Amino acid sequence: MFAKFTKKIAIDLGTANSIVFLVGKGIVLNEPTVVAVSTDDNKVLAVGLEAKEMLGRTPENITASHPLKSGVIADYLVTEAMLRYFLGKATGVNFFFKPEVILSVPVGVTSVEARAVVDATLSAGAKTAYLIPEPLAAAIGAKVPISSPSGNMIVNSGGGTTEVAMISLGGIVVSHSVRVAGNSLDEAIVSYLRHKYGLLIGERTAEEIKIKIGSALKLEPSQNLEVKGRDTISGLPRTHSVSSDEITEALDEPLREICQGIKQVLEKTPPELASDVIDKGMILSGGTSLLRGFGLLLSQATGVPSHVADDPLLCVVKGAAVALENLDYFRKSLSSR
Ligand code: ADP
Ligand code: MG
Repeated sequence: MFAKFTKKIAIDLGTANSIVFLVGKGIVLNEPTVVAVSTDDNKVLAVGLEAKEMLGRTPENITASHPLKSGVIADYLVTEAMLRYFLGKATGVNFFFKPEVILSVPVGVTSVEARAVVDATLSAGAKTAYLIPEPLAAAIGAKVPISSPSGNMIVNSGGGTTEVAMISLGGIVVSHSVRVAGNSLDEAIVSYLRHKYGLLIGERTAEEIKIKIGSALKLEPSQNLEVKGRDTISGLPRTHSVSSDEITEALDEPLREICQGIKQVLEKTPPELASDVIDKGMILSGGTSLLRGFGLLLSQATGVPSHVADDPLLCVVKGAAVALENLDYFRKSLSSR
């Protein structure tokens, strides 16, 4: 009877970014998945961008951290507090009618990990919590015609995981998830500069380098960037000029692992679907699909053409919202409580 008052909310709880979509309205929140907590009384001090600014800069009585690791909850209480904040933002503070919520989860999650997401969402104030596999949501959001009796391949590469799936007739036929994505690329840059130049940099600086001059394949002509960090020997601040070719070299290993994950799905794909994909190519989504040369590298490694989806960072949340609006059609692919 009160169905029209029940708000429907889709949440992409990403390792790097969380996006909240209110059905009938659109995106109401899009911020880094970072929470700052006061260690004295465990109170949430800041969520999102404000908390991200604090990363690596906090005094003793504040911790700023990523409550998700590789798409799964690493810190339950902080995640629950964050979800409560999200639901409050989407529904107004005093919500009388509890909202229906759908969240995306990596295909590789265990039932315990999935359960933790559902429980945290319910304790944060949801009436029901549905889970949708991330690549399925990404495909729906990328407007891939997933109901067709034809192979549709999607690669969603975000911060913590790269999810690869072959979808046909509205369901996932084969999928694989590797816990290698944007964060691994940042870590590879940190470790490269430390080993090669004795230069210590933080994760945020590494991400900036990646976005400014990073490329999966060598840039032509190459670019340079002045990088500020700390000398591992003297302990003092120092600046070093780094070239895009060096960053390409640093990214080689994690990118290889991503290619490996995609090949695993292709190897397990039934031949009819595989032949569809050779014609149609794979669709790329997630923030890491924005890395220069990423699509070309994947195509070279697999022999399958690739196309980056429109608004690759928003595909998952948009697709999850479509699934929530069309529950009857998608119910068989979701889990809920
Ligand atoms: P998640 O779903 O795991 O939260 P997202 O899909 O939001 O991840 O993508 C975030 C990742 O995308 C981060 O690792 C970020 O560094 C990376 N990213 C965002 N923009 C770019 C870009 N232009 N080039 C390379 N990587 C990018
Ligand atoms: Mg994501």
